[in-house]
Amino acid sequence: MNDNRYDIAIIGGGASGLMLAANLDLKGSRGIVLEGSTRIGSKLLMSGGGHCNITHGGSIKEFVYAYGDEGQTLRRCLYRHNNLELARWLNDHGVELADENGDPVDPSYGSNGMDSAGRIFPASMRSRDVLDALLGEASWNGWQIETDARVSGLRKDGTWEITLLNGVELRSEKVVIASGGITYPETGSDGSMLEMLDDLGLDVNEPRPALAPVYVENYPYSELSGISIPDVTVIAFSSDAACTCKGKAAKMKGDLLFTHEGLSGPVILNISKYVEPGELLRLCYNKELHELPKRMQRILRERSRGILGDVRTNVLALLLNQDDFIVSGVDGRGMVTAGGVSLDEIDMQTMRAKRFEGLYVIGEALDADGITGGYNLQLCWSTAGTAADDLKSLNKEA
Ligand SMILES: Cc1cc2nc3c(=O)[nH]c(=O)nc-3n(C[C@H](O)[C@H](O)[C@H](O)COP(=O)(O)OP(=O)(O)OC[C@H]3O[C@@H](n4cnc5c(N)ncnc54)[C@H](O)[C@@H]3O)c2cc1C
Repeated sequence: MNDNRYDIAIIGGGASGLMLAANLDLKGSRGIVLEGSTRIGSKLLMSGGGHCNITHGGSIKEFVYAYGDEGQTLRRCLYRHNNLELARWLNDHGVELADENGDPVDPSYGSNGMDSAGRIFPASMRSRDVLDALLGEASWNGWQIETDARVSGLRKDGTWEITLLNGVELRSEKVVIASGGITYPETGSDGSMLEMLDDLGLDVNEPRPALAPVYVENYPYSELSGISIPDVTVIAFSSDAACTCKGKAAKMKGDLLFTHEGLSGPVILNISKYVEPGELLRLCYNKELHELPKRMQRILRERSRGILGDVRTNVLALLLNQDDFIVSGVDGRGMVTAGGVSLDEIDMQTMRAKRFEGLYVIGEALDADGITGGYNLQLCWSTAGTAADDLKSLNKEA
């Protein structure tokens, strides 16, 4: 970093930062990606267990619900840079895609989204191929990529002044925050940038883990570890309703996985951000007793025994539809972060921070998160693409 003046600095070399760099040809402007850790794209590499569930199939119209309350606000952004565009871009850059059955995805078809359904992966099932495509195109576009460049200070003084942990100071006309959330801090995403933004005066909603396993008091299913039950309805009750069971915080349906310590699987991961310790979590298995695994039938029978050791059929029937637990904790290692920079602060047509000139926020640093299935990487793509459009148009103005 010799001359420390830049036109654009991206803080964070994860999926969203690299998706932006890969989509923004600098055309002579000076741009730098500042990655705080020594390894670029660590979280992208671990996505989907290393297989990288890059997006979801189907019409982009169906995506909106996957982001809960924030879905409507994200809609324009998702439509503009949708799953089909992401698939086409990857295809054009040598990454063929496949659906969850391994069938090839042909992105030359479709209009509002992809013809294929379900989770979409690189056909090679290697996150590395996605990362290599992004890095290759970012370099081609003229970006300087620096690792071990952790930002420790950010302030506006005419242009943006960026201080690195090693004392180096940089100046940049535009700064894009692509620093992710708080989970898996060993990847470099430790929430430090969100704290700096909060200090700067941006409205940052408290970050917390989402898509995380949930632990409950008196968990009876340790010995079922590894067993998955399909189509379970899970209801999370808000704390003021735990006694009355009236106020539902969230209700979802999907596959439940028992682990040694607690509950996991898509339905639990998806509902985890609505769950707090001390609150009530209700599992409704939507099945007859004989449809459940034998070992689980035995545990349910044991749990329904009365004082005299007899199986209480009414209790057994209740357990099948209202297996209630008090939540003891939510695992800190959520796959994504709920909370982050409030969407109210951001112009969703450009990803510019409304109150801070020259500042953009994209990806998981935003207070938006999706359910499992590729929606979180799609969010990175859609927000990065929207920021790239705006920064491209500024390039033309110059
Ligand atoms: C185990 C796991 C599996 C997942 N699987 C999937 C999946 O299959 N499909 C899916 O859609 N989503 C998946 N996700 C979620 C998805 O990976 C993330 O939502 C996405 O990678 C976020 O990208 P990002 O660029 O916004 O943030 P990140 O990938 O977190 O990148 C942010 C980068 O910013 C850097 N940074 C942070 N602070 C600073 C600082 N102060 N200075 C400089 N650099 C800084 C960090 O080092 C990091 O590299 C998974 C997540 C995990 C943890």
